Amino acid sequence: MEQNQPKWPGVAAIVGDADLYCVSCALKRYGPGIQDLVEDRDSARALVDNEGNPLGVVLRFSEDLHAQYCGDCHTRLCDDDCCCYQAEAAWDSQQDEEGEEEG
Ligand SMILES: [Zn+2]
Ligand SMILES: [Zn+2]
Repeated sequence: MEQNQPKWPGVAAIVGDADLYCVSCALKRYGPGIQDLVEDRDSARALVDNEGNPLGVVLRFSEDLHAQYCGDCHTRLCDDDCCCYQAEAAWDSQQDEEGEEEG
């Protein structure tokens, strides 16, 4: 039985410089302190972005993630299976092709 559940669902994105970043890009941008932020350590409260504003986090499954992409690498920040991207993909394919392809 696994008892090591994290105390929160986990950080999906970091908020800084008025943008959202995936954790790995945030690490590159803001340095290893991001790890403290992800783990919700007190030391993370001192972290600021390049504009001097405190860095924030967006937790997994947050509504704020819908249809959001990392500001650096453009990876999907919301869940890959989430309907927000499917709606977007359906819209894209509608724009591209009008052929009827039924699987
Ligand atoms: Zn979504
Ligand atoms: Zn990224």
